[in-house]
Amino acid sequence: MRLVLVGPPGAGKGTQAQFIASHLSIPKISTGDIFRSNVSQGTALGRRAQAFMERGDLVPDEVTIAMVTDRLQEDDAQSGYLLDGFPRNVPQAETLKKLLSAWDARLDVVLELVVDDDEVVRRLSGRRTCRRCGRIWHVLFDPPAHREICDDCGGELFQRDDDREETIRHRIEVYQEQTAPLVAFYADEGILLGIDATGPVEEITERALSALRRFIRLPRAAGTVEAAVAEREMRMPSDPKLRCSDADRERTVALLREHLAAGRLTAEEFNERLEAAFAARTQGQLDELLADLPAIDLYELPDATVRRSWPGYGQLPWGRRSG
Ligand code: AMP
Repeated sequence: MRLVLVGPPGAGKGTQAQFIASHLSIPKISTGDIFRSNVSQGTALGRRAQAFMERGDLVPDEVTIAMVTDRLQEDDAQSGYLLDGFPRNVPQAETLKKLLSAWDARLDVVLELVVDDDEVVRRLSGRRTCRRCGRIWHVLFDPPAHREICDDCGGELFQRDDDREETIRHRIEVYQEQTAPLVAFYADEGILLGIDATGPVEEITERALSALRRFIRLPRAAGTVEAAVAEREMRMPSDPKLRCSDADRERTVALLREHLAAGRLTAEEFNERLEAAFAARTQGQLDELLADLPAIDLYELPDATVRRSWPGYGQLPWGRRSG
């Protein structure tokens, strides 16, 4: 199984990657870990990556891609892996897709860990790493007995340069600009699975594994109504706290526009809802904008609108949205 984990810095990717990979008995390949170990060993790769990492910027694609291409050809990666931190932008995702197809393989699923920005800052700015054994502590959620000392090995705890608040804010911006578009990229490929990544670590792991179990069991492209409905549940989890994608937003706007044209909304009401749709962060907030309006069959919308609002939507048998 080939799996990718995406999510903002501090979403808990590293922790979840470890649990999920060990549960599925596949290696976890973390580009951040590989870079960090090269930095601490002072290799040529580490020297190239260090300044970018300290600023919270992405290491240039050619460096990262060459490193990942080598890693994916190692023996332990032949029967699958979990990628943590790669791809980090659309060009990396496109390169990965080409590489895999040259090897006659493809990704099975991309798991998105969904967390909001304030929670990310709270989590990351409290993180402390042991200089000696690398164990990660948290001043609020998992504090060591003595403030600056690792309980496990007695090593000194420090705050990673990229865990300082101003760097964290910058890393979030980098994520929004470069990595968040991957979510739409993989949604279009039909392999995106989003889960709410707030709450206790074990609960998030359980949520991830049960979503994965359901996804993997799905007959792929079976063309039955059941499969399509199950797939819809995967792609559009009904969890109202899940972050909405641009495609969700555009679909909502397309529907609002139809209601305006049919006279069910005044221009003023439409404009208010349009603004709210662009400000919406969750699927629940988008759903509220349509809750008092009758359902529209998306097949009735002009083809171009449907395709723009959700590629592939018009071809599936469940293109009906309840209002
Ligand atoms: P992470 O531990 O995944 O947050 O990664 C730490 C840092 O390593 C990032 O802030 C980047 O500077 C660098 N890095 C990790 N993965 C990538 C990637 N796929 N592309 C570019 N830079 C990366």
